[in-house]
Amino acid sequence: MLSLFNTKIMKRILVTGGAGFIGSHLCTRLVNEGNDVICLDNFFTGSKANVIHLIGNPRFELVRHDVINPYHAEVDEIYNLACPASPIHYQFNAIKTIKTSVMGAINMLGLAKRVNAKILQASTSEVYGDPAIHPQDESYWGNVNPIGIRSCYDEGKRCAEALFMDYHRQNKVRIKIARIFNTYGPNMHPNDGRVVSNFITQALSDKNITLYGNGCQTRSFQYIDDLVEGLIKMMATDNSVIGPVNIGNPDEFTIRELAEKIVALTGSSSTFVYEKLPEDDPKQRQPDISYAMQLLGWSPVVKLDDGLIKTISYFKKLENERDGF
Ligand code: NAD
Ligand code: UDP
Repeated sequence: MLSLFNTKIMKRILVTGGAGFIGSHLCTRLVNEGNDVICLDNFFTGSKANVIHLIGNPRFELVRHDVINPYHAEVDEIYNLACPASPIHYQFNAIKTIKTSVMGAINMLGLAKRVNAKILQASTSEVYGDPAIHPQDESYWGNVNPIGIRSCYDEGKRCAEALFMDYHRQNKVRIKIARIFNTYGPNMHPNDGRVVSNFITQALSDKNITLYGNGCQTRSFQYIDDLVEGLIKMMATDNSVIGPVNIGNPDEFTIRELAEKIVALTGSSSTFVYEKLPEDDPKQRQPDISYAMQLLGWSPVVKLDDGLIKTISYFKKLENERDGF
């Protein structure tokens, strides 16, 4: 594609939630590949700091906008990431979280329909709830409490998936649904309460490591670069591919094992304390990624230790900046 000034632009891409943790990495990668990127965000949990390195780049625009309101731009692709993702953030204003997922999906799907853009939904492993089958593959319908404290997020995301499918069936919108499993890396919000950011910040300041419940619940942690690669590959599939597809790292760890790793990697003198397990906290989670491997030729390559080392460096840098070093 050529712009008016004859400069070659690969694609015009809208990333909602682009100033958040995942969105900022995605925007960076898309800009670096020569695309023209609009990063749309209301800065609820994201920040300009996450995309500061892109500001001033002619291929990058940062727009303050809330996806619960319609937005119009001529784009070729939309990555719909806008939604708080950590339990404390999405429970902060649960009604707003549902509105963001549902009205955001309607507005972005409406835009995709009008401008004939491909649209990818950042869905989540939370659609499987507290899963009764293990590992989780895409055919599993999930075990979600529809009235619990996590339901604003889980049911919001499930409704968004339903909307994506209906816009596809009724209006032939070209959709892609990616079910993202626990992802970590630089640009995570230090106070988002998620397990990786909590444990690293606690370990770096030699504070108690807070294990909820007995620490035997499991998660499978994916490094951000692997996720971005998977999302871009999913977007690049032909129109017949709609998903849902799991994008995650199948290496499963207990939360206690994660804590032990982080203490070892930081050389911290923190000790463990056990706190109440939050309501409806899933007991185990591990993606079956056979479909992603076969469909996208994708599988994660970053081992947990390597990803944690990079993430720890990021949080150390944040601390040094805060302390004025
Ligand atoms: P994040 O909170 O860092 O990013 C979300 C971004 O969306 C933030 O920049 C926030 O300001 C923005 N946002 C929130 N509500 C908005 C609204 N109404 N209008 C415009 N912008 C809004 O979280 P993240 O981890 O980067 O997650 C990004 C997406 O990926 C989310 O949709 C999340 O559900 C999904 N996801 C993330 C994970 C994970 O492990 N990080 C796992 C599964 C799914
Ligand atoms: N968790 C914990 N201590 C913390 C934060 C989280 O033990 O300080 C646990 C939490 O109860 C859950 C797991 O770590 O079992 C992952 O939590 P997170 O909020 O990161 O993600 P999610 O539950 O949404 O997968």
